[in-house]
Amino acid sequence: MLPNWTIPPHNLDSLGAGAGDREAGASGDSGELHVYPFHLVFEKDTLAWFPFIMDGAALNFQGRGIGCAISSRSAGTMSPRVPEGSLHRRRLYTSLGLDPAQVFTCTQVHSREVLALEPESPREGPQADGMISRDPQACLAITVADCLPVYLYDTESHGFGLVHSGWKGTGIALKALQLMEARWHTRPEAVAAVLGPCIGPCCYQVDAARARSFDQEFGGPDGAYPLGPVVKGTALDLQAANARILVNAGVRHIALCKDCTFTDERLGSFRREGPSYTAMAALVGAFHLSLGKPL
Ligand SMILES: [Zn+2]
Repeated sequence: MLPNWTIPPHNLDSLGAGAGDREAGASGDSGELHVYPFHLVFEKDTLAWFPFIMDGAALNFQGRGIGCAISSRSAGTMSPRVPEGSLHRRRLYTSLGLDPAQVFTCTQVHSREVLALEPESPREGPQADGMISRDPQACLAITVADCLPVYLYDTESHGFGLVHSGWKGTGIALKALQLMEARWHTRPEAVAAVLGPCIGPCCYQVDAARARSFDQEFGGPDGAYPLGPVVKGTALDLQAANARILVNAGVRHIALCKDCTFTDERLGSFRREGPSYTAMAALVGAFHLSLGKPL
């Protein structure tokens, strides 16, 4: 178990306007940033569960409640672009007790587009890289392999979201949050965020021009961990970029997966595996944990 820790508001000031000076106490919220690092634990090597965490407590995860999941490399690629992907997805959904009609996907294109789903929305959605929903029956699924899955849950409206955030689509987490605010009056302070597994700054080298432009757009004065550095040399930290974006927007509860897709062979990695990479399915929804029979 990794330690949890709390960053007091005055240490958030370096993030710039709005980060450290939100009104404290409006709902018992202290304005502090709470960070919960964790490692993935796979059941039967195929699926890892992890909860949204707020004030140190997992949110209704042990029974019927909102939760997050990711498939492993050994569960096979979940890519819609290869024929075996649909077989693997079907097997995964069955293992979760999910009817495929409950599962919403989008056609991922590394954009910052987010779909606000309704129960009647198409299950295989148009081009976008994120979805939000408030349907307790819905499960949102994206695929990732080095890119970062960002899971969001509004503890007040019970709306939830999931986005696929690579270097190109960084900023999409804010789009999802803004859509939640517009639709459900979501308060960022009431949101629990999870930054899932991705290629870590240990391994994510890019060319100098990309590093420079990423730093210009998402970097800045480094705050306390995990708020920087967003770019170190020519290595990008997707989690730090997203933590900064979310914290600047007012989010205060962030769980952070510490497993790097490039070095952890339980995980799919485009950079490590090459063209036949394993696209992992990231899922969020109101799972019945007891129905989660491992594959
Ligand atoms: Zn790494």
